[in-house]
Amino acid sequence: MLEDKYGRRFHYLRLSITDVCNFSCDYCLPDGYQCDNDRDFLKVSEIKTLVSGFAKLGTSKVRITGGEPALRKDLCDILRVCASTPGINHVAMTTNGFKLESDIQDWVDAGLNSLNISIDSLDPRMFASITGHNKLESILRGIDKALALGIPVKVNAVLMKQYNEKELDAFLTWLKSTPITLRLIELMQTGDNIDFFNQNHVSGSAIKEKLQNSGWSQLIRDKSSGPAQEFYHPDFEGRMGLIMPYSKDFCASCNRLRISSLGKLHLCLFADQGLDIRPTLQNGNDQALQQQLQALLGDKEATHWLQDGLTGATKHLAMIGG
Ligand code: SAM
Repeated sequence: MLEDKYGRRFHYLRLSITDVCNFSCDYCLPDGYQCDNDRDFLKVSEIKTLVSGFAKLGTSKVRITGGEPALRKDLCDILRVCASTPGINHVAMTTNGFKLESDIQDWVDAGLNSLNISIDSLDPRMFASITGHNKLESILRGIDKALALGIPVKVNAVLMKQYNEKELDAFLTWLKSTPITLRLIELMQTGDNIDFFNQNHVSGSAIKEKLQNSGWSQLIRDKSSGPAQEFYHPDFEGRMGLIMPYSKDFCASCNRLRISSLGKLHLCLFADQGLDIRPTLQNGNDQALQQQLQALLGDKEATHWLQDGLTGATKHLAMIGG
């Protein structure tokens, strides 16, 4: 079992398979993807060794992320490798949804169990203004398709003062009859977005209070849960979630480790550096990998230092996957 010195256990692996993204979200890649990096992303054979090593150390859930994971032509092979690894019982993916409508059936056939889709606004014009793409309608149709296939869907919306702070009512109306979980994520500061962050960061605590005062009750987390506090209401098909990385004790329930698309272990989204495990993956030796992971985990810190404005090496979240 992967357990750190603070007693946190890591059941959950977030695996970035590319840092390329085709969207240009204002808070992440406002000028679009800039290719200033090595693009020799992890190969399927390396991913197989990686996931197998993690699974032997107790990891049961893998989330594929990016960049935009649907840009990888071998995405289905990657999903298949994850889903067929003994010990892995849940394969999830975070996507901007641009290929959802056309590809969901293939992803499900390859072993996908659940989806997180990013939708920062339900207003098509606002959506296009934030992302640079006029894709909202297609993504919403894709969500209906995923739900019809029995795939649980969570929708991520980043809270931004100047954009969608006033959209809560529209999101709630959607949740009345749509069985998804909508998670409002507090905007996080990264190396590249300091001005945008200062202008737009807003805490989720006022929304939490509003929900609790209007009949929403908080759900109890289980061991493989993500970072959200989730709420349900008897009159709503959907659930609400809040991800508040600046809140006290946010890191106490951390249960996930991250691997970048170049094969670096990130002990935290905001770590100072990634730790290179690629040579071990290239050797295909998952026992050596297990030893290496256990040794490296010793350096995981108790918390991130975001509240002090320290964002580590993370210029934007497309680098290692949000
Ligand atoms: N391309 C995929 C997508 O759009 O979902 C996966 C990668 S994206 C980096 C993962 C998530 O991180 C998205 O929900 C995105 O909105 C969120 N995100 C990106 N930058 C963020 C920031 N600075 N603060 C909070 N969330 C952020």
